[in-house]
Amino acid sequence: MLYHSTRNNKLTATASEAILRGIAPDGGLYVPENIPRLDKSFTRLAKLDYPHLAYEVMKLFIDDFTPMELKKAISSAYNDVNFDHSDITCLVEADDAYYLELFHGRTIAFKDMALSILPYLMKTAAKKNKVNEEIVILTATSGDTGKAALAGFDSVPGTSIVVFYPKDGVSPVQERQMVTQAGENTHVIGIRGNFDDAQREVKRAFTDEALNRRMNGAGYRFSSANSINIGRLVPQIVYYVYAYTRLMPKEINFVVPTGNFGNILAAYYAYRMGVPVHKLICASNENKVLYDFFETGVYDRNRDFILTSSPSMDILISSNLERLVAELAGDKTGKLMEQLAKTGRYELPDNAKKAEALKLFKGEFATEDEMSARIKELYEKEGYILDPHTAVASAAYEKYRKQTGDETMTVIASTASPYKFTRAVLGAIDHGKYSKKKDAELFKDLEKLSGVPIPRAIEDIMKAPVKHKEVCGKDEIIEAIEKIYL
Ligand SMILES: *Cc1c(COP(=O)(O)O)cnc(C)c1O
Repeated sequence: MLYHSTRNNKLTATASEAILRGIAPDGGLYVPENIPRLDKSFTRLAKLDYPHLAYEVMKLFIDDFTPMELKKAISSAYNDVNFDHSDITCLVEADDAYYLELFHGRTIAFKDMALSILPYLMKTAAKKNKVNEEIVILTATSGDTGKAALAGFDSVPGTSIVVFYPKDGVSPVQERQMVTQAGENTHVIGIRGNFDDAQREVKRAFTDEALNRRMNGAGYRFSSANSINIGRLVPQIVYYVYAYTRLMPKEINFVVPTGNFGNILAAYYAYRMGVPVHKLICASNENKVLYDFFETGVYDRNRDFILTSSPSMDILISSNLERLVAELAGDKTGKLMEQLAKTGRYELPDNAKKAEALKLFKGEFATEDEMSARIKELYEKEGYILDPHTAVASAAYEKYRKQTGDETMTVIASTASPYKFTRAVLGAIDHGKYSKKKDAELFKDLEKLSGVPIPRAIEDIMKAPVKHKEVCGKDEIIEAIEKIYL
């Protein structure tokens, strides 16, 4: 199977080349030429555990790995060292919906589902393509990708990683997780700007020819751990197939708290592989560009950037949406993305607005107040505590359900442990009681309230020393890279 750029279908790559490059040379994203159908029945897939199911899904996309290579990568990632749940993920029923807990990995956010396997996919891809340079992972993070990528690549031979995060745009736990990262090959830099700035400048570094030439000359080669890499997208498809096979209803809805549109795109790919999806509900926080897009067919980032309690969704340019747009608008995609870069806005052509694929999606959003109220409500009703991202999705789903009366069985992607956002979560439950307490106390309070023991990830960062203190301007990313490597 070949992949091609969303902006030019003559620019092709094998799976392993696409994993290595991250982004196509023309700045487009790699998409599979066609999305494969699952080649085993759901009854058979339902009998498989997570690693075996992962193999059945991933082999169809990463077809230039040998079965041995792919199985080795899967078993290196999905095991009881990296995950604190024996099934890797699990479904919890609460208030007439199922929460698919994707936060049992090392950094307690769903990014671990893909970033625990990406380093192994990348190392194998490098070997296959006879790459001798050290692979330098450049990553912009809105909070969770950074730590998950650092943990994944920490001390992996032949690789190093630089993470850029918005200095004032992540939660205290998220920041502390990153700046305490050990490993000689890890670098973490705060930028004075927001996530979109970081993402744009990192993309610029990837496509800066002079910089790439100089890096190659010095024995380095860039790759990306951001969700635009198909090596992240493909592992994310697995858990949607997994969730479906554990429940096996006639049809299923997925609700996904969305930022960069990677997670929900994986749900869409699961649908294209054969999972009978009724609706994909794309939940945004107050940065609701995607809600407006699904309502109107117009993508418009010209608006204030709002810092919310769900920072991993504080995004105005959802990179992975380009892959859906490419299906809807075909060879007009390059033009639309050019308009987006120049004016911050584009409108889908009329025929694209009518496409079947678009009707599968329903945009929804939740305000800060709605999100907080939902955390409190679900805690009081069921004793189940959500993190703010999952609570945005849950609140959005409640709105959707009221509006439509849709009774289809629904799975909500639960993307982070509440421990990652303890202050926001406890503040939602009882602001007066918790707002003056210290973080360490709050962890204990959350343990008492939720009955879920404090995860190892939290205990680790409370002890670890701060190792990374560098901060740079939003236009100084390339200089910062040069300082490390050249
Ligand atoms: C990254 C992240 C999201 C958004 O996922 P996308 O794939 O970027 O849409 C939602 N919630 C949490 C906790 C995240 O870390």
